[in-house]
Amino acid sequence: MPAFTNPADIARETLKLLSARRIAPTPENYQTIYHEIAGTRPAAPQSRGDQALLKALQELAKQVPDMSSQFRALAKALGAGEQKAIESALSGLLLKPGAGSEAPWGELIRELMRQWELKQSGITAARKRDGLERVLSNFSRDSSLLFTKIQALVASWAENPVAQTGVPVEGGEAVAGAQDKTAIVPEAGAPAQEISTTDVPGALREMLAQTIQTGVAPRLSQFPDLRDEALLLAGRIREARDSSSIQGVAKNLKQFWIKLELRNDSDAQVLDGLVRLLRLLVDNISELLLDDPWLGGQIAVVQDIIAKPLDSRVLYDAERSFKEVIFKQGNLKHSLLEAKDTIKNMMATFIDRMSEMTASTGEYHAKIEKYTEEIGRTEDINKLNQILGNIMKDTRGMQLDMLRSRDELELAHKRVKAAEEKVRQLEKELDQVSELVHQDHLTGTLNRRGMDDAFQRELSRADRLNASLCVSLLDIDHFKRLNDTYGHETGDEALIHLVRVVKEALRPSDVVARFGGEEFVIILPDTGMDEAVNVMTRVQRHLTKNFFLHDNQRLLITFSAGVALRGPGENAESLISRADQALYQAKEAGRNRVVAAG
Ligand code: GH3
Ligand code: MG
Ligand code: MG
Repeated sequence: MPAFTNPADIARETLKLLSARRIAPTPENYQTIYHEIAGTRPAAPQSRGDQALLKALQELAKQVPDMSSQFRALAKALGAGEQKAIESALSGLLLKPGAGSEAPWGELIRELMRQWELKQSGITAARKRDGLERVLSNFSRDSSLLFTKIQALVASWAENPVAQTGVPVEGGEAVAGAQDKTAIVPEAGAPAQEISTTDVPGALREMLAQTIQTGVAPRLSQFPDLRDEALLLAGRIREARDSSSIQGVAKNLKQFWIKLELRNDSDAQVLDGLVRLLRLLVDNISELLLDDPWLGGQIAVVQDIIAKPLDSRVLYDAERSFKEVIFKQGNLKHSLLEAKDTIKNMMATFIDRMSEMTASTGEYHAKIEKYTEEIGRTEDINKLNQILGNIMKDTRGMQLDMLRSRDELELAHKRVKAAEEKVRQLEKELDQVSELVHQDHLTGTLNRRGMDDAFQRELSRADRLNASLCVSLLDIDHFKRLNDTYGHETGDEALIHLVRVVKEALRPSDVVARFGGEEFVIILPDTGMDEAVNVMTRVQRHLTKNFFLHDNQRLLITFSAGVALRGPGENAESLISRADQALYQAKEAGRNRVVAAG
């Protein structure tokens, strides 16, 4: 049973969910979420506009008897919404021998469909539908007149500039409105070509050729054979004029798509296989690393990454983070090895000295025994004096030996202790280096992993001490504008500046983590709602006083923030989501403000 029935409520909830899930607010996404909340099914594939198009095709089937089967096939495919069937029905229309010479209906309908889909400013879908219906009812008796009228109608739609929705126009094309010229956005570096739309078949041919040449071929650099074939095809498309060469090109195109699909399939399989293999390897390694925290941290990152669908940004971040860790580990390991070597040498000296000492004390005992015997046998005082003299000499030698050994041993012991201390120190540093994978490289704040750990720590601490805790989500205002005006590097510097200023205004026990691009989560332990709002407002003031300098120019950065007070047993996800809703309200209310979550 859906929770909302009133369309206004559903619309509001849809906007909230789009924002909470960070989904781009395109019409399609809005529609999907709307139906999700309303508990309804998306409208049947045929909208009113599509129905009108179907009606038009059925009419055409009646009016142009020798092409009725092609029109019916297209209407059927459109009704079912099957892309492949639509394509083949269209090529059926396009390739019908003799059909294209006088009235190229296929091309006209293709253009009609394209213009039908495009959202031009100044012309609504309803106006298009009315126009088409009018032409159909007025001219359907004369097929060649009908052709010219529809052509003129479609051309008049094309004269309107395409509305800027922020969503890329299908196929990467940007249709320049007003005149009869259509500009195709080329790959970087390729000269922009202008296509005349007065020659519709020629324009379509050129558009297809350019799509393949600049849209498809550059993406095939991994497969030079396919890339060359794509370029060859683009050339053939440009030259195809008569129906037999068009048919030839169509056949080649089809073969090309099949090859491409097969190649993509095998690529995806290889990638899948590699990820499975990596998962196996990493799982095995992690079992062996129970008491090796400095490698364990890195393995956990890899496990995290491969548990989710591959994302090139996440992969890039992890790679950067590992490179840094590997570099630092390399340095530390070198010192660690040296320290361990010192210990080994000291131990070797120790054992040497020990054996020397036992050897010399053994000798001493033997000598003492000999002297004791001699002392026992002799009565001669002179002889005794001589023996005593010898004993004194040996004992002194022995004492010196002992002293030397003891000093050496003490020294060795000290060195071993120092080396042991160094090893402990280095191992600690190595652990800290592994912590780097918990840090965001640009700003030095915690990253998402670090934030998760901090939440775990702070939430259980708050539970233990029954303490209040607040979470704030902060988002820089109009950051895109700053990037666009001064460049991405300046944007990066602004982020570093922001973090420095924010940290200055916070307590050391507060936690700052980068949540995403220009959004930060701040955990405020032992803090109630009023205090948290005050703290964040103080941070804002501090930021307005500390300008960000770019080329000696003072730039004012502001942010909006939402604050949520933790409810009993509330988890991090829910806290962030509530803070996010409050942040959304702060943005809506005009930015540069702090809003408390209800
Ligand atoms: P709003 O006030 O509504 O938040 O507007 P905004 O422009 O800040 O918001 P939006 O989300 O549209 O744009 C965020 C921008 O942040 C877009 C993206 O290019 C930029 N950004 C994200 N991460 C980074 C980064 O690491 N460095 C730089 N320089 N820019 C980034
Ligand atoms: Mg943002
Ligand atoms: Mg922003």
